[in-house]
Amino acid sequence: MKKKFCVTVNFKTPMKNKLFSNVGLLLSIFSLLIFLPSCQDDEEEIDCNTYQWEYTGDEAPDTWPICSADCGGQSQSPVNIAGAVADDNLQALVPAYNPVPIDLINNGHTIQFNYDEGSTIDVNGEEYELLQFHFHALSEHTVSDEYFPLEVHLVHQNAAGDLAVVGVFFEEGAENAFLSNFTGNLPASENQNYTSEDMVNVADVLPTNTGYYTYSGSLTTPPCSEIVTWLVMKSPVEASSVQIEAMSDILKDNFRPIQALNGRQITEFN
Ligand SMILES: [Zn+2]
Repeated sequence: MKKKFCVTVNFKTPMKNKLFSNVGLLLSIFSLLIFLPSCQDDEEEIDCNTYQWEYTGDEAPDTWPICSADCGGQSQSPVNIAGAVADDNLQALVPAYNPVPIDLINNGHTIQFNYDEGSTIDVNGEEYELLQFHFHALSEHTVSDEYFPLEVHLVHQNAAGDLAVVGVFFEEGAENAFLSNFTGNLPASENQNYTSEDMVNVADVLPTNTGYYTYSGSLTTPPCSEIVTWLVMKSPVEASSVQIEAMSDILKDNFRPIQALNGRQITEFN
């Protein structure tokens, strides 16, 4: 697979007259002669066996589709949330989450809490099991083009293997009691863990207001599979500036840029 840094020469520019046309053609050929050798020199061979996607640099989000074709798909996430339409068929989410021991890992892309088996959520009549939750800073979704400093994703899977991900935004305010269970012990470097017998329940991170936005999308990291029903809670919850900073310092802008809706409709439950 090749990643190209070539300068493209546009031969299709409308030409006003023949003189300009001739000059334009000569300039184009000249440009090609100048840039062709450097183009080949700068062409970088991407080996998908060793490719490690990142948020910045040579393996930034614009390169993800090179080794994960789905990342270039038409139903990608995150998206900007605007113009949502109320849908009377939607119901409030019904979480049935158990308290579990703390099991955090820094996997190099995010801080992830692996949730013990047995916790579920009912999403409009479909049952999904909670697998894990993890964090992004800044938020991945935006609302009317506005970012939040932090977003948590609760990842659930149904029997068919499809995912339902609940997103909750954080805004700066009072200390968040749920986060305070582990924000003093966050695993700062890749492959570092933090485990504890202290029992926590992620139900405590959900906002009181049950309103949410929903749309069909994808994983926001490679392989970007388009198998996700997104459920983004409308009301943000609060976290202190110290808590947000502790998270952000480790997460280092692990948010994928906003993806095109491509005609998808965002609906909402109020
Ligand atoms: Zn996520």
